[in-house]
Amino acid sequence: MTETPLDNIPNIFQELRASFNSGKTKSIAWRKRQIEQLYKMCDEQKEVFASAAHADFHRPSAETLLYDCGVIRNECIHTLNHIDEWARDEYRSDSLAYATMDKCVHPEPFGICLIIGAWNYPFLLTLSPLIGALAAGNCAIIKPSELASNSAVIVAKMVERYLDPSCIRVVLGAVDQTQALLKGDVDHVFYTGSTMVGKIVMRAAAEKMIPVVLECGGKCPVYIADDANIEVTGKRIAWGKTINCGQTCLAPDYLLCSKKTESRLIPEIAKAWQSFYTDDPINSDSYCHMVNERHFERVKKLIDTTKVVYGGQTDAKQNYIAPTIMTNVNTADKVMQEEIFGPLLPIITVNNEREAIEFINTRPKPLALYVFTSNKNLANTIINSTSSGSTCVNDVIFQIAPPCLPFGGVGESGLGNYHGKYSFDTFSHMRSVAYSPMWSEFLLAKRNPPYNQKKTAT
Ligand code: NAD
Repeated sequence: MTETPLDNIPNIFQELRASFNSGKTKSIAWRKRQIEQLYKMCDEQKEVFASAAHADFHRPSAETLLYDCGVIRNECIHTLNHIDEWARDEYRSDSLAYATMDKCVHPEPFGICLIIGAWNYPFLLTLSPLIGALAAGNCAIIKPSELASNSAVIVAKMVERYLDPSCIRVVLGAVDQTQALLKGDVDHVFYTGSTMVGKIVMRAAAEKMIPVVLECGGKCPVYIADDANIEVTGKRIAWGKTINCGQTCLAPDYLLCSKKTESRLIPEIAKAWQSFYTDDPINSDSYCHMVNERHFERVKKLIDTTKVVYGGQTDAKQNYIAPTIMTNVNTADKVMQEEIFGPLLPIITVNNEREAIEFINTRPKPLALYVFTSNKNLANTIINSTSSGSTCVNDVIFQIAPPCLPFGGVGESGLGNYHGKYSFDTFSHMRSVAYSPMWSEFLLAKRNPPYNQKKTAT
């Protein structure tokens, strides 16, 4: 990957600032055109995107086609269908006291938005926020992750080919480029990645007092009640744990359930994995690998072979780690000390939902919390007694899909949210505008000095 020279970064900001100041991006027609082009890009180039991600981490084509290109196209359609309504001034009325004024919320773009992406969904995590930034009328700079370098290069090439280069640019590189961008003439930062780097990004944004959205990670727990449909539960957890080789921010990180449920669940998860990847996942085209040697080594070290009841095989040459289940896990185990971000599934046994709630509440607020049960009251009890970025009852990850729901974390798992209208709002400054009529002067006499008791009586 050829990195963008650091010397070029000030020029990029200058060009984008001039474009923004020209008012070009405020035209709704321009915004729609860019989003239509983005749709076209993710349709015409989907196979090129899939090949790049496969070269980066043996990612199955289907996972790029479905979870990156397909989701981005849906978001484009949803945004195109609603942008007129979202971008319109929204007139408001409240108490009689201010009835003489016309009042509206006027959404305005921030200016230049910096989108810093992570590598694990290399197209989704850069291009989906871009839809919101463009819909709201901003210029944007995308900084894809250097860890998926083939994908990053393709993002740069295709953005240049399909979108307006005077307003949308891609900067390639790693920490130095990101730091230079954060110090540049930027008005808004949208970051996806680890919590640790999120704090660095937030500090940089604080220096400039610009808004920041942090889409981070953490350990997403799953509670499985004894009354859950275990066959379907096993299949859904198996799917969510191993798509993208577990390198999904919303992937189930660990399971909490009773000993009785654990013994029923393990065969169902194993059965699902065998049906997805055969008995030999290393030779399956549907099974993704770890992104690089560093992450392979990191996740391998989290495996305690004495606790493995399924899987556990690794192959350093291919950065391959098999789908793996570990039991008798406790909080002192390495696998419980950090977000796994790999295909290991530890199970911790609890006696009931109260113990599960206590376990969850003594840890940082997760990006997602999952509950499997056939009892809606139980699900609601868990939702009301805990906090997480999002929750899905009886499934995993899928809560990210509907554009009507905000996607984001809480506490250490993130700050702010996006998708659909939430993206538009995230990338807009909501400016209050009030029009006061001249004829109302006689009604405002009370506010003018000199003050007296009559004026202050309410
Ligand atoms: P990463 O290594 O790709 O880093 C993310 C971005 O930060 C990259 O563009 C990188 O260049 C930049 N960066 C790295 N170090 C930096 C520094 N010191 N200063 C400035 N910029 C720096 O991604 P990652 O951190 O390996 O991603 C994995 C994490 O991201 C996991 O915790 C995962 O849960 C989280 N994640 C969250 C979401 C979400 O939507 N909430 C999505 C995907 C991943």
